[in-house]
Amino acid sequence: MKVAKFGGTSLASAHQIRKVCHIITGDPERKIIVVSAPGKRFKEDIKVTDLLIALASKFLKDGQVKEELNDVVVRYREIAEGLELPEHIVYVIEEDLKKRLAQDTTNQKKFMDSLKASGEDNCAKLVAEYLRTMGYEAHYINPREAGLLVSNEYSNGQVLPESYERLKKLKNYSGILIFPGFFGYTIDGDLVTFPRGGSDITGSILAAAVKADLYENFTDVDSVFSVNPNIVENPKEIKKLTYTEMRELSYAGFSVFHDEALVPAFQAKIPVCIKNTNNPNAPGTLIVAERETTDQPVSGIACDVGFCSINISKYLMNREVGFGRKLLQILEDEGLSYEHTPSGIDNISVVLREFDKETEKRIVERIQAELKVDDIYIQHDLALVMIVGEGMRRSVGITARAAKALANVNVNLEMINQGSSEVSIMFGIKANDADKAVIALYEEFFKNQ
Ligand code: ASP
Repeated sequence: MKVAKFGGTSLASAHQIRKVCHIITGDPERKIIVVSAPGKRFKEDIKVTDLLIALASKFLKDGQVKEELNDVVVRYREIAEGLELPEHIVYVIEEDLKKRLAQDTTNQKKFMDSLKASGEDNCAKLVAEYLRTMGYEAHYINPREAGLLVSNEYSNGQVLPESYERLKKLKNYSGILIFPGFFGYTIDGDLVTFPRGGSDITGSILAAAVKADLYENFTDVDSVFSVNPNIVENPKEIKKLTYTEMRELSYAGFSVFHDEALVPAFQAKIPVCIKNTNNPNAPGTLIVAERETTDQPVSGIACDVGFCSINISKYLMNREVGFGRKLLQILEDEGLSYEHTPSGIDNISVVLREFDKETEKRIVERIQAELKVDDIYIQHDLALVMIVGEGMRRSVGITARAAKALANVNVNLEMINQGSSEVSIMFGIKANDADKAVIALYEEFFKNQ
């Protein structure tokens, strides 16, 4: 059995949904289908999820949402008409939205999640309805009834382990199951969404729960590319990746697959295949536990901006037992998670995503007062560039090649970090050097082979 997930662009219009349903019915093993909300039809278009966020925000502000509500309903109406579905389905969706808007708004985050999740929820109802008109047995599945339980962190839910046992029973249902992505329910029955792009996570959870043979993730590109195609023209496609490589790449900016989505598939050892709805015969990218080695040490180059670094120095820091713990405790107290901590004998840097100025001021004051440091400064506008590849474990000189390629284009390395796994090397650079650095590294590892 396969679990297949379709992303927003695959469901953006009636035309796309016809393709999706053709793919679903083309393989009887595709039994559990996870859908996103309708996404962008063209570059400047607005995703339904973003329309829903605008709708919820406006409602919370002034309660007047005639236009915003209409924007959402129109998207569904267009799709329903294009699929020649009875008008009734649009009525059902509109009523559902009105019901959500009528909920209590005391907890704004809870209200927002409920509105956001309607994008996938109503899309699932629509796709199930269309499959039925095609003559197939298809059922919309409600995540609450199916038992997808999540923690109660709004917009940032995490699956609860007991979900897997409950979701296992989906295997025994008859027909094609259409499951909305992106949200689950807390033990108390509150709707909570995953982080943005989280329908990938739902797919992975279901694939793990039913022990699927394959988790297919349908998107709008033929495969995962070795580098961002918006930066490098026609980059090399990746045929096979390990879970570790994919996790590293998606963490550092590869947006084709949500970085948290691999965990359930990885734990249950379910292979994942990234495929293209617009070209379903292309083999796509397969993500597995292990892959045969090639002579290509680097599999991909990723880059993300929006980082800063807290740089601290103190004479004899290396002798001070507990210094690192106390420093990280201050960040923990502020609810900040950090990415890297490169260090020297008497200095340490903590790299983390940019955060607000007020917190920054508090943190600096606490570090000065409690750790009595000689110097502290925060460096902003950093980018992290990562080269990732299982093949790097066995290759000597990769860092040297990367550093030389970056030096040749005059990119200053603010920091370098390599973990013990040797599957990735991180370079911290100034954000405005990011594209230049990525191009130079691509030339070095993919063109000059
Ligand atoms: N629709 C949600 C978003 O735009 C979730 C998803 O598409 O995966 O973030």
